[in-house]
Amino acid sequence: MITRFAPSPTGPLHLGHAYSAILAHDRAMQAGGTFLLRIDDLDQTRARPEWEAQLKDDLRWLGLWWPEPCRRESEHMAEYEAALDRLWEMGLLYPCTCTRRDIREALSAPQEGIPVEGPDGLVYPGTCRARWSMEQTFPEDHPRPQGVTLRLDMDNATRLAPAFTHRIETRDGGWHHVASFTETGSGQREESGLVEFTSQEMIDTIGDVVLARRDFGAAYHLAVVVDDAAQDVTHVIRGRDLFEATKIHVLLQSLLGLPRPVYHHHRLIRDDAGKRLAKRDDARAIATYRAEGATPADIRRLVGL
Ligand code: GLU
Repeated sequence: MITRFAPSPTGPLHLGHAYSAILAHDRAMQAGGTFLLRIDDLDQTRARPEWEAQLKDDLRWLGLWWPEPCRRESEHMAEYEAALDRLWEMGLLYPCTCTRRDIREALSAPQEGIPVEGPDGLVYPGTCRARWSMEQTFPEDHPRPQGVTLRLDMDNATRLAPAFTHRIETRDGGWHHVASFTETGSGQREESGLVEFTSQEMIDTIGDVVLARRDFGAAYHLAVVVDDAAQDVTHVIRGRDLFEATKIHVLLQSLLGLPRPVYHHHRLIRDDAGKRLAKRDDARAIATYRAEGATPADIRRLVGL
């Protein structure tokens, strides 16, 4: 078993991070496996070496161990670029110039219905996809553009992905194409075990997600599947807030021919008011608890372990 914890070094490690890291670490140790630490520093405008040093110090203090040097995403851009090239050559990416405001405005048109909130915000209305399919002939005629936002054409991606070859009949006699993953924790709606989802659901509730960002190349969804495969991660243990995003990850693994790990989404640690702990919530930073004399056992207790 190989598990991992992949924090962004953009703020202090808080109780929610500690819970996730300890779970991933303990599961690997119980199975005689390996726990990896991966630094998600794709966003170089926000990542800071001081935060990386602090989070490693906090994790060591908690009693966690991982092999060094750990993988730092910013050092693997070429691998993400190669994955983007493959998706581009499959004709599944298109450049998008929409701002958040453009998207809000397009979605407020009467024919659009009620905007749907997906894992990355509002489901994209497809403005640039329509434009691109009018201009484009074959992807080989266009080298992949650099320094632009690239979105995944969700409709075509689910048609092409081997993960969606399984079909189930709908009530009205039609067909749904279904993909699945194994969940050993649970999703927002208690989904557990073999989680199945349809291509239509991907189109309607997730839409054309961003896979390359104008400012720093690869986006999270792309990097995470490349990294988990490169590091032979067998069990992804992380917060329930990423449950829906797992469907994107399964789709990308299928398109890129990468193995699919087992997923375990855990409950989120909330503050007394029931609010999810934000990274900048310094009051809950592990460093603050340490300064106040807490022990690693206290932290485990605080997160219910
Ligand atoms: N850096 C991501 C986060 O902190 C990692 C998510 C994941 O574990 O896949 O949300």
